[in-house]
Amino acid sequence: MEDIKVKVNIDDKLYLNTYNVDSVSHLDIKDQSICENCNEKTCTFICPAYVYEFKDGHITVGYEGCLECGACRIACSYDNIDWNFPRGGFGIQFRLA
Ligand code: SF4
Ligand code: SF4
Repeated sequence: MEDIKVKVNIDDKLYLNTYNVDSVSHLDIKDQSICENCNEKTCTFICPAYVYEFKDGHITVGYEGCLECGACRIACSYDNIDWNFPRGGFGIQFRLA
């Protein structure tokens, strides 16, 4: 029997998704001074969409690319992310091809 293995590239899969981006962020940092002193900065590597970046002493939030998976909310040891779903009609639309 033929052994068929297909490599799946996550970036190719993510590329299929579309977004209806809101003008208002559904993600926010509660207190940037906590981020400054956070040694782990887990949000910068746990997010599959690279939403968080530590730059010039503070965390930036590129909410436009959020996949709404909730990982950052759980991973931040300081509960320092104000996490909400996007408003109705906004956010990601998954394409499962
Ligand atoms: S993990 Fe939490 S406290 Fe640390 S940098 Fe990210 S949001 Fe800030
Ligand atoms: S919900 Fe998921 S995709 Fe969105 S910012 Fe958090 S970790 Fe990244």
